[in-house]
Amino acid sequence: MEDLLDYLPEQWPSLFSALSLPKWRYDQIADWVFQKEVVEWEMMKNLSKDLQTTLASAVSLSLPSPVSILESKDGTKKILFHLKDGQMIESVIIPRGDRATLCISSQVGCGIGCRFCRTAEMGLIRNLTMGEIVGQVILANKILRENPIQDTSSLRSYDRPFLNRINHIVFMGMGEPLANIDHVINSLRVLTSPEGFGMSPRRVTLSTSGLPSKIIELGESGIPVNLAISLTAADDQTREQLMPINRHYPIKAILDAVRQLPLKKRQRVTFEYVLLAGVNDRPEDAKKLARLLAPFKSKVNLIAFNPYEGSPFSRPSNDSILLFQKILLEKMVPTTIRQSRGDDILGACGQLAWEKKTEQKEISWSPVVFST
Ligand code: SAH
Ligand code: SF4
Repeated sequence: MEDLLDYLPEQWPSLFSALSLPKWRYDQIADWVFQKEVVEWEMMKNLSKDLQTTLASAVSLSLPSPVSILESKDGTKKILFHLKDGQMIESVIIPRGDRATLCISSQVGCGIGCRFCRTAEMGLIRNLTMGEIVGQVILANKILRENPIQDTSSLRSYDRPFLNRINHIVFMGMGEPLANIDHVINSLRVLTSPEGFGMSPRRVTLSTSGLPSKIIELGESGIPVNLAISLTAADDQTREQLMPINRHYPIKAILDAVRQLPLKKRQRVTFEYVLLAGVNDRPEDAKKLARLLAPFKSKVNLIAFNPYEGSPFSRPSNDSILLFQKILLEKMVPTTIRQSRGDDILGACGQLAWEKKTEQKEISWSPVVFST
């Protein structure tokens, strides 16, 4: 049976063409699903019993099922989901001040093979469907509605509002979103359209290892989400070692694609740079990066490598991270250092869903079991 969440709200009338329902009926259903997180037809109180039964027999309306939720002491929550075919994915809810950011997955595993990434070790298992992508957001909202969370990493209590709805999304979970571009673009439409979640595209960020033709395709889609490019090296030789995809799409090809993007006033492209001790964290790397990015309206987000068992890399010292940032700032490149969150639950974005293979043994606290 087809699943409603695999279709855009504007496609719903053609799914039920025999019923000739008026548009406002579809708006009611969209409101239940995207604003109230209700996916049970029988709970959609403003639909008649007959209509509920007819709809239920025509399409399914299912969400990925949460298997466990791990909570970090900083307020971050990592949700492990079961998909219909038994595969698992993860999303992370990260509270920060008044922001509730959801880091979502776009694929099961990833085929890009970056040497410093745990997800790469899984290989690509499959693309997520649109329903599986937006389903992560619906479930996160449902979890927050029932149990609002707080950013407890801040010592200042006035910085700790209770958050009961996701207000920022980053495609930085498992997978390369642009390798699943059709489902990802449709998901972006649902996230940002008034019939869907109605989020501002400025609150949505897509992170990519840099697939030039797909970057252009994303630009042509006309959805002005923020783009983050995982550069991680300022020259092809170093990048090739860390991200073998660079042999196919070298830095120049990526930057040429970025140049073609229709950027709105004040909108900047983010370049993510994973700092690996002794590999790409020297002052000369920072200078090279500043020269490379000088012609762009860009900002750099430095991410200290998050170590995991079996990885040959290590995290640079705080001093060298700060020095790297200082050099970029002196060269007028806006540069931030990503605050590490949820470390105690292996919650870092970009290295998700690998520990499930080791049955989460190394996690010292017991998962909170989710019951619906
Ligand atoms: N595939 C996309 C999005 C998911 S990865 C991409 O690569 O951009 C999200 C971010 O996490 C990327 O910038 C990636 O370089 C970074 N990342 C991956 N593994 C990491 C690790 N072990 N430590 C720190 N950052 C990592
Ligand atoms: Fe894939 Fe991103 Fe990990 Fe590279 S860093 S392997 S592109 S998830």
